[in-house]
Amino acid sequence: MGTLKDYIENKMSMSHVYQPVMIKTLLVNGGVAHKKAIAKDILSYDISQVEYYIRITNNMVGRVLRKNGIAKKEKDNYSLISFKDLSAEEVEALIGLCESKIAEYIDKRGDKIWEHRRRNRKAVPGSIRYQVLKRAKGRCELCGISMEEKALEVDHIVPKNHGGEDSLDNYQALCFTCNANKRDTDDTDFRKMNAVYSHREQNCIFCTINKGRIIDSNELAFVIRDKYPVTEGHLLMIPKRHCKTYFEISQAELNSMHRLAHKHREILITEDPGISGFNIGFNIGKDAGQTVNHCHMHLIPRRKGDVNNPVGGVRNIIPGKGDYTT
Ligand code: AMP
Ligand code: ZN
Repeated sequence: MGTLKDYIENKMSMSHVYQPVMIKTLLVNGGVAHKKAIAKDILSYDISQVEYYIRITNNMVGRVLRKNGIAKKEKDNYSLISFKDLSAEEVEALIGLCESKIAEYIDKRGDKIWEHRRRNRKAVPGSIRYQVLKRAKGRCELCGISMEEKALEVDHIVPKNHGGEDSLDNYQALCFTCNANKRDTDDTDFRKMNAVYSHREQNCIFCTINKGRIIDSNELAFVIRDKYPVTEGHLLMIPKRHCKTYFEISQAELNSMHRLAHKHREILITEDPGISGFNIGFNIGKDAGQTVNHCHMHLIPRRKGDVNNPVGGVRNIIPGKGDYTT
């Protein structure tokens, strides 16, 4: 008693509920428990999992049962429509019937039915994992949560079976929840979502850009020199997929463009020490000055004295409004 009590009371440093849950499971089960039993007990505290299955209940199974006149929903409760007409024996028999249906299905399909929920289906090598997490600065690249709060997983952006590569640029760090959502959408309504990334338009100058003009690229974006540079070194970061504006690109595409911007900023300032600043810009819509209807990020190097008064930078899109200080 003494050691355990002392451990629980004084020594156990808790970064999560895991330790007391596991000790409790062992205690409740006479001192020994299968790893699955421990995992299930931890799971019972995981509200994110419960929330996930509440969504399934409401949006999928609940909807079907209501549509078929089997169940109804009042506030947060579901009820079986004909339950009051059932005798206790009938209830027993129906429970048995459900159990045999479940067993029959699992028997036929095996564990595959949960495959889409599995973590790390294909393990990413440790060194790559480390680099991706470092690049993401330990935060989910979709929702921004820190890895101290939620486990981060390193995952292919474009899955391998859709032609995605094993390159660093095709990996992203996602938290458990964002990754699970991504997987579920991949596996259900948006099964073809990844094919979307290969969409090109025949009459778009950026979709059909000559390969020789591309100075760099990664999984979802590429870089070209602007054909009519406003200043030396003016680059464009462009998503490979045809999409009209900044507001249509996905987070993964934005990340790809962002990485290229970082990399080429470094290259530009290394090659030209005269560069002392940058402007980054997206023109969105004709009225805002967009002339090529395929999203692109302008990366414009700036040098001291390149204009008379640089104050306000991008504010100067409205002439005379740049400098609000005078
Ligand atoms: P925006 O006005 O934001 O749509 O920007 C279009 C940019 O694309 C301008 O900066 C142009 O100089 C540049 N541009 C236009 N045609 C080409 C081309 N064929 N190759 C590279 N850059 C181009
Ligand atoms: Zn295009």
